[in-house]
Formats: sequence, C-alpha cells, structure tokens
Amino acid sequence: MSPAAAAKRLCVGVGLAVLVALPALADPLVDDALAAQRLIVPVKGVARAALRDTYAERRLLGPHEALDIPSPRGTPVIAAGDGMVVKLFRSVPGGITVYQFDPESRFAYYYAHLDRYADGLHEGQAVARGDVLGYVGSTGNASRDAPHLHFAIFVLGPDRSWWKGSPVNPLPFVRDPEP
Ligand SMILES: [Zn+2]
Repeated sequence: MSPAAAAKRLCVGVGLAVLVALPALADPLVDDALAAQRLIVPVKGVARAALRDTYAERRLLGPHEALDIPSPRGTPVIAAGDGMVVKLFRSVPGGITVYQFDPESRFAYYYAHLDRYADGLHEGQAVARGDVLGYVGSTGNASRDAPHLHFAIFVLGPDRSWWKGSPVNPLPFVRDPEP
C-alpha cells in the first residue's frame, strides 16, 4: 500500500472511531420524538426525584448506558410508554427481560433483571403507559441482595431489530406518572 493510501485508510479509520464515539443524542429530532412519548418512571411507586443517574457509569462489560432503579423485589415494573411487547428474552447479563417498541417502532425500551413476567405477558401484546410488564428482581448479573430494574432506551436502526440500536440516557425523558 502506498503511503497516500495508508494515510487515507487511517483517516477513514479515525473518522469511524469518532462517529461511533458520538453521543446518540446529537439529533434534536430524536430528542423531540422521545419527549413526545411522555415516558414515566417504569417502576411503580418510584418518584422521578428518587432516581440517580447511572447512565455513564463504567461497568465490567463496558459502559452501563442504562438507568438502574433500585426497588424491593416484587415491585411492579410498568410500561414507560405506549407501544408493543416485541420480545421476551432471557440472557446471562439481563436475566428475565422485556423489549418493548413505541407505537412507531422508533425506540426500544429494555427492562432487565425481572423476577418474573406479568401473568399472560406475550410478544405482540399492545401495552399502554403504566401497564404492568413484570416484577422487580435480580435475575442475570444483578446482585441477589440489590434487586433493581435496569431500564434502557435504544434508538432503533432502519431494520427495526430489537437487539440493536443506539442507547439514549432515559433520565431526562422519564417523569412522574399523572396521579
Ligand atoms: Zn443496570
């Protein structure tokens, strides 16, 4: 390879690295679309003011990119917004998990470490904001004595695959449910 070609390749590599490192929220349209979902704190009885920002924490597997919401085992986990349950999935890190899409399939909401699902919960089920999806637990890699909900939001790609998307910090987008 000529030095010029090598330099060009290096630039492409650097460009890609910069692109990947950019925060997902560079797009104000994404911001607006997510705000329009009017999401609520997805654990029953937990106030917005009680949340701690755990999004940027470094964890064993890499950046956390989610919100941890500590709550007693068995507390109802509720849909943060309207949409549809697209996948019920068990994974080693996440344990018992739910993937939900918003009504336009732009965003995925991911709920992990559940103790169990709500009775009858199934893929393809339409859910409304506040519907019970499951119960807080510590399945997966959560500590047994620190049950919590791991809640993440992903901006879906054009193929709308539930397992891939760009993470967004949920904290600025969740509010207290209306009384
Ligand atoms: Zn977590």
